[in-house]
Amino acid sequence: MYKTIVLAYDGSDHAQKAAVIAGEEARIHQAKLVIVYAYDPVPEWLGEPLFEEALARRITCAKEKIEEAKERVGEVPVLETEILEGPAATAILRVAEVHKADLIVMGTRGLGGLAGTLLGSQSQKVVMLSECPVLLVK
Ligand code: ATP
Ligand code: MG
Repeated sequence: MYKTIVLAYDGSDHAQKAAVIAGEEARIHQAKLVIVYAYDPVPEWLGEPLFEEALARRITCAKEKIEEAKERVGEVPVLETEILEGPAATAILRVAEVHKADLIVMGTRGLGGLAGTLLGSQSQKVVMLSECPVLLVK
């Protein structure tokens, strides 16, 4: 039985499918679901007020992604959300650790990546370093 499931969501096709599966798993296991989205770091050399403006845009975009993920997940027993600064894999691993997750659900690929690459770099890193099982959704 899974008690806590982490869903890593970047809005990609694979992450959209991962959201549906994460929702199903959370309902089957009556588990808490934590949705995580990581935004790209804002370069500090931007200076004020550009730094704050760029950060605010990233947070707004992150909240939209989280709302989108929630819709795909559907009703689950307990839902929490986390917005962190990237890199994504570091953020996902951190959230999994803090919430003592027993499953991470994510896509095999995301929004970026080179054609021909079978597994995204963030998925690779999470699979390599995670202490709990990782469900990679195609
Ligand atoms: P790359 O990023 O290496 O160019 P990619 O974008 O195709 O390639 P990944 O970034 O590894 O592949 O994406 C795989 C999965 O990781 C996504 O389907 C999603 O579940 C998760 N993920 C990627 N980026 C983020 C992010 N910024 N926030 C949350 N989850 C993410
Ligand atoms: Mg990516």
